[in-house]
Amino acid sequence: MDIRSLVAENAEAMVHWRHSIHASPELGFKEFETTKLVARELSSAGIELRPLEAETGVLGILKGGQGRGPVIVLRADMDALPMEEETGVPWSSQNPGVMHACGHDGHTSVLLGAAKTLAALKDRLRGEIRFLFQPAEETLYGARKMIEAGVLESPPADYVMGLHGSPLAEVGQVAVLRGPVMASADMFTVTFSADGGHGAYPHRTRDPIVAAGHFITSVQEIVSRQVNTLDSAVVSVCAVEAGTAYNIIPKNAVLKGTIRTLREEVRGEMEARLQEKVEGVAKTFGCQWNLDFIHGIPSVSNDDAMVDRLYRAAGTVLGNENVVDPVRPLMGSEDFAFYGEIVPQSLFFQLGFVEPGEPIIHLHNSKFDFNDKALVPGASVFCQFVWDLLGNGQ
Ligand SMILES: [Zn+2]
Ligand SMILES: [Zn+2]
Repeated sequence: MDIRSLVAENAEAMVHWRHSIHASPELGFKEFETTKLVARELSSAGIELRPLEAETGVLGILKGGQGRGPVIVLRADMDALPMEEETGVPWSSQNPGVMHACGHDGHTSVLLGAAKTLAALKDRLRGEIRFLFQPAEETLYGARKMIEAGVLESPPADYVMGLHGSPLAEVGQVAVLRGPVMASADMFTVTFSADGGHGAYPHRTRDPIVAAGHFITSVQEIVSRQVNTLDSAVVSVCAVEAGTAYNIIPKNAVLKGTIRTLREEVRGEMEARLQEKVEGVAKTFGCQWNLDFIHGIPSVSNDDAMVDRLYRAAGTVLGNENVVDPVRPLMGSEDFAFYGEIVPQSLFFQLGFVEPGEPIIHLHNSKFDFNDKALVPGASVFCQFVWDLLGNGQ
């Protein structure tokens, strides 16, 4: 079965969808037009839509004609970013202040192309393929909403798979890693407090700004002195608020920041050490303290057997030399992690969009536009993976 040629029959349609979606970008949980477009195209391919208790997001269901078998969920994200587009392309954003700068227009078109192709192969497939178009990846809450809406249930999903367009590989290539691939993301707000007083008489009060200053530098010792040097962890204080005047020692100093890790043990350790650090600094400077710790999303981690399958599938449609190892995980985060938490056989890979010899425009840049040449490779990898898993005679 020449899967890539079958996918290529939808090449023009995929570019058309991509440009339409790009021209009408919508923010997280507001993907109303995108939801309509996706639902319409899935229906026209004969794919059943499962109603979701959510205003945006689509779940298409394709049951193979060869009888029962495993359930695989293929996921794309549909939301855009709150920024002004500066690409100058004819299909530029028609919605001021909103643009597809993360390539989710490309992800949506890739998955639509895969859905059309697999629908045509329905009679030769077994099991169930779910095409999941989720809202609000950028705010990291869309996946949770879809899970609450039951996309991984009835019957439970056996496999889940997603991709992201990436500057880590050239167009026509995919990049994949074993184990952790993207980091967990937690947030914290630390408050040091005292009575406040005159800037000329610091001994009459306690100084939350001095406590905050020590905290900002000493919190970095957690990574350099307390986490195993062979593990990855980042702590960044990204907001500092305190004080109103030249001569008033304020009552409060408030710090906000983020913690990123690749392993759950390290994640837990970072939280515990952070709390000790806050307590210790507060005690040293005689301040009260408060720590508001928000558990964000876990890390994305690839299942070994799924990585082996991806090497085989992507090797078939792109050539073995075009499956590359990005060497290092990313310390950014992806809400795909929530699916992986529930479905252990999960896989997240990077779809290359770099044109050799041309400067790279990175994600979230106002000049970024998803590379249309990556659409067929992306959809081909999805389809070949499914064919290897659920195809006739496999
Ligand atoms: Zn993004
Ligand atoms: Zn993204």
